[in-house]
Formats: sequence, C-alpha cells, structure tokens
Amino acid sequence: MLQDNPTDIVVIGAGIIGISTALELQKRGKQVLVLDREGVGAGASKGNAGAFAFTDIVPLATPGIMRKAPKWLFDPLGPLSIPPSYALNIAPWMLRFWRASWQDRYAAALSAQAALMDHSRAALERQIADVDGEALMQREGQLQLFESEGEFRASLPTWDRRKDHGIPFDLLDNPDAIAEIQPGLDRRFTHAGFTPTWMNTVDPASWTRHLATRFTARGGQVEIATISALTPMDAGVRLTTAIGEIDARQVIVAAGAWSHHLAKTLGDRIPLETERGYNTTLPQGAFDLRTHLTFGGHGFVVTRINGGVRIGGAVELGGLELPPNYKRADALLAKAGRFMPGLNLEGGTQWMGFRPSLPDSLPLIDRSARAPQVFYAFGHGHLGLTQSAGTAELVADLVTNTKPALDMKPFASTRF
Ligand SMILES: Cc1cc2nc3c(=O)[nH]c(=O)nc-3n(C[C@H](O)[C@H](O)[C@H](O)COP(=O)(O)OP(=O)(O)OC[C@H]3O[C@@H](n4cnc5c(N)ncnc54)[C@H](O)[C@@H]3O)c2cc1C
Repeated sequence: MLQDNPTDIVVIGAGIIGISTALELQKRGKQVLVLDREGVGAGASKGNAGAFAFTDIVPLATPGIMRKAPKWLFDPLGPLSIPPSYALNIAPWMLRFWRASWQDRYAAALSAQAALMDHSRAALERQIADVDGEALMQREGQLQLFESEGEFRASLPTWDRRKDHGIPFDLLDNPDAIAEIQPGLDRRFTHAGFTPTWMNTVDPASWTRHLATRFTARGGQVEIATISALTPMDAGVRLTTAIGEIDARQVIVAAGAWSHHLAKTLGDRIPLETERGYNTTLPQGAFDLRTHLTFGGHGFVVTRINGGVRIGGAVELGGLELPPNYKRADALLAKAGRFMPGLNLEGGTQWMGFRPSLPDSLPLIDRSARAPQVFYAFGHGHLGLTQSAGTAELVADLVTNTKPALDMKPFASTRF
C-alpha cells in the first residue's frame, strides 16, 4: 500500500476519459496511477460507434422533445425505451431532463456544448500529434439522412445553429446527390446534411489502448482495483479497495456510468443515469461504407470499424443492473438491412454499453464541492469519445491551477 509514499494522482477508470486525462496530467509532469476494476477500455469506451461528433452541438434536451418522446416510447424496440421495472427510478432524472429542455436552459447548454466541442476538436488534434495516432483515424465526414422533405425541414433549425457556430456543412435535396457521397442507400432517403469535419476512429477500443500504451511507455501505471469509497484526508484522499487502502494527493473520478456511486461516498449527490445503447458489428466486406451514416429519425448510426460495419444506437433508460435486451440490436440491424439493401447481415457480434448521462446533456468537469483534492470527469453521455481530449486538458487545468480555456460554470458539480 502507498500510505508512506502517496501517489501524486490516482485516476479511477481506464475508459477513454480516464486514460486521456492520465496522459495529459503526465504531460504536465505528474506521476499518475490509473485504477480500473477490469482494465483498459472495458466500459462504454470499448464498443461505441467510434465517432468524433464535433458537429453535434445541439443538446438532447431540446425544446419540444417531451412531445416527441411518448410516440417513441410506444414502440418497445424504437429509438427510446424505459423498461417498466425502471420507470419510477428514472422519473426524477426525466423531470430534470424536461426542465433542461426549456428555452432558457437549452440555449445556455447549446453554447456550452458548442464551446466544449470547439475546444475538444483542437485538443484531439494535439493528442493525435502527441501519440502519433493518425493511422487510427478516419477523416470521412458524416451523412445525416432524412426520409422526407418534412423531416428535413424539421431539422433546419439545428443546421442554423451549426451555421451560427461556424460549422461547415452541405445540404442535399435528392437521392442522386446523396449517392455521390454514399452509394447503395434506399431512395426513400431524399434529403441529407453532410458535415465534412466529422471524424471517426478506426476502432474506439484500439484508440483507448493506443493512448494507454503511450501512457505506460512514458512511465504511467495502470492497475486492476475496484474502488468502493473515497475519504478526504489532511493532505490528500484515501481510496478504499477490496485489497486495502491507497493514498493519493489528488484523485480524478472518471468511472463512467458508475461515477456517482463514488461521488456519493464524499456526500456529493449527482443525478447521473445511464442511457444504455446497443449495436451489432458485421465483419469486413458487409457493405462498401464511405462515410459515417446517421439515421436520426430512427436513432441509429452506421460506421466502419476495423473495416467491418457497426450498426447501433438507441437509448434504453434501464439503469446499471437489468440484463441487456439484445432484441434492440436485432431491430436496428433489420432496419439497416432495409435502408442499405446490399448490406450482408450475417456474422455479426452484439454489444451493449452504458452511456454515462446527466440530464442537461453536458458532462461534469469540476472539483468536488466537498473534497477539493477530488476532481470529477464524467457524464459525457453520447459524446465521451468526442470530448475526451478536450476534457483531459480541462481537468489538467483544474488540477494544476491553470486558467481553463473555457468558462467552466456549465460543467460544475453544483449545477443540479
Ligand atoms: C452504443 C453506443 C454508441 C456510442 N457512440 C459514441 C460515439 O460514436 N462517439 C462518442 O463520442 N461517444 C459515443 N458513445 C458514448 C461513449 O462511449 C461514452 O460517453 C464514453 O465511452 C464514456 O467514457 P468513460 O471513460 O467516461 O466511461 P467508460 O468507458 O464506461 O469507463 C469507465 C471505467 O470505469 C471503471 N469503473 C467503474 N467503476 C469503478 C470502480 N468503482 N472502481 C474501479 N473502476 C471502476 C469501469 O470498469 C470502466 O472501465 C456511445 C455509447 C454507446 C453505448
């Protein structure tokens, strides 16, 4: 145990947020130990869609969303579901989500999200250069598809918001123009928006491992340990684990969808829930995919992962304990088969992951209100990979008392 020689900093969680943060702190001269109960990239960071979705600046909690939600909820395998046994548990989070969708809070969240995206895009380029990571990137943009003129028109305010924030895009109004970017789609998709600055990694698991390998090669440590509690001490923090106690001068909680349990041991109550998501990864050759496809009206995306095709998305507000319902992955795959007629549906592998989500669609990047040696970096929802490098720099700024590049109030732990 480390009582006599406390580690500078312990990062709890070896997902994309924890590993990116550890790497950034190390760059700033800190000695860092990462602890994870399973190892590198075991949680949501393992099987996500691999997108750096920098153009997705519009929060999920959008004005009018609560009018659309009941329609989705009627379809048990639709884009949004709440298992009946979890309905009461999720009710307080839904109320906060609803309040976040009011115009005043939505507008503030949108500005904060846009600023974080801008920062994260620049930070990712710095990170790629630092770890020699270009070979793990795909810079092919994103095609967001619409099934009718009506659906497309309804999306126009979101394109206006992107324009306000200087995000480049092309709007397409016929299937032939769409086919020039992505051939082989059903012609029911009459309209689309193409965002060229969108990026993907070839595989989110490989990207997380790549960063972890650089971190350990430079002297960082990653160990297996489950943390059950945090206790503030005179000159640091004590971490309770199954095999004993570990002392650190500072601690970063980056434990994804489980982070609020650790915050609670300090007395910080954070309304973190999980939006469970599903996907199926088909082997190489399943489809000639040229860009990232988003079928927004159906709540799923199609991306190229290691040369194969990953089809997934959906939101299931079902907590951390219920078993997965892989019929959701089957339903998305069947839809993709209809929308991409040449797609070979054979040989897929299914996965379910826990998005760590706060009700206002913004992450928590802050010092604990009760223990100034503890920092929080979680709650990135649908955008954890996208905002990982940006979050890492902001956390490192807070830890090293450097003025952060952004106004941090929208990401504060006390905002709820
Ligand atoms: C289907 C799906 C698709 C997605 N697609 C995208 C996408 O394209 N782009 C994007 O930006 N985001 C996407 N996301 C979201 C993204 O995956 C997450 O926001 C991100 O991975 C969160 O990273 P994290 O490091 O916070 O959490 P995680 O990756 O879940 O890591 C948390 C780690 O903490 C460890 N841990 C937890 N509790 C403890 C404890 N008590 N002690 C020790 N260790 C602990 C866990 O073992 C885990 O390894 C998607 C998510 C899903 C489910």
